[in-house]
Amino acid sequence: MRILRRPLWVACLAIGTAVPMVSAAEANAAPTAGTTGITGITATVQIGRVTGDALTVRFTARNMSASTVDVLSRDLSVLAVTRDGVPVPYRGKLIKYAAPTAADYIRIPAGGTYAVTENLADDYDLSQPGTFTVAPASTQVRATRAATVRTTTGIRQSRRTAGAAPATTERVTAAAGAVTITYRGCSSSEKTAIKQAVGDAATMSTKSQSWLAANPSGGGAYTTWFGTYSSSRFSRVTSAYSHITSELTSKTVTLDCTSDEDYYAYVYPDDPYVIYLCNAYWPAPATGTDSKAGTLIHESSHFTVNGGTDDHVYGQTAARQLAKSNPANAVDNADNYEYFAESR
Ligand SMILES: [Zn+2]
Repeated sequence: MRILRRPLWVACLAIGTAVPMVSAAEANAAPTAGTTGITGITATVQIGRVTGDALTVRFTARNMSASTVDVLSRDLSVLAVTRDGVPVPYRGKLIKYAAPTAADYIRIPAGGTYAVTENLADDYDLSQPGTFTVAPASTQVRATRAATVRTTTGIRQSRRTAGAAPATTERVTAAAGAVTITYRGCSSSEKTAIKQAVGDAATMSTKSQSWLAANPSGGGAYTTWFGTYSSSRFSRVTSAYSHITSELTSKTVTLDCTSDEDYYAYVYPDDPYVIYLCNAYWPAPATGTDSKAGTLIHESSHFTVNGGTDDHVYGQTAARQLAKSNPANAVDNADNYEYFAESR
């Protein structure tokens, strides 16, 4: 999961809420408001407490329309944060979500509100003083009327899990070299699946590199997933797969099986090469679309040392559209790397 910015919330991004120096003992700022792209929903971000290690914001979505709306909660809670006009990188979990189910929607009755409080210091580096802005941000805010009521929402729970699950380490020799896999809290069947997935993902990434080397002007599958050719975008993609291949064939990769979340997986981008595998991961096919191996490509692309992708959109349809409409974001979007690699 990740910072999402763009079309639907452009109006909000322009506003932002100024916070005078994060190091200030305490401060309050006026709320930021904007529309969400869903008719009748208005979003507000209100700055609460600001200290050296806390920047609490309260996010509120108010349904101003005359009818009930069901909104995908994960789309509403994503924020854009800037310091002195420069985006502050998100450093919390980057999650690959499973397809939303009815339970992932929150129901906001006509005139009602949905609110959540977050401490931005959990997910953003606020150690440098400056003027911060916080605004709602999202590329996709999805709503449906056919969902069930949800009373609690889980958003970006940050804070790394302290404590260590029992770890075992195994050195796996692959064709291209040797990767060391460390398992945290994995059962023997999970270890078997992981070992297979790491090998499959290494093969996918290697084949992606070969394909790009053979098609130095892009076209074909490159255009499908990364859009119109430009030399800088093409080299970013090439570099990412090169780093991912190196990770999966020669580094120490840690797979953590202790999560009980209904995601596929998540990582902390600045913590290579630790990948947390969650409930939706295990039933996924070994290879092909949204597979175990492909998920490892997705997550690995997030690591800053591999090039540091974001999650602008999720899913094949949205990823294809992004390649057409915004190639710069497509080459920065984890699912696009996954889908290109899964089709090699
Ligand atoms: Zn992701």
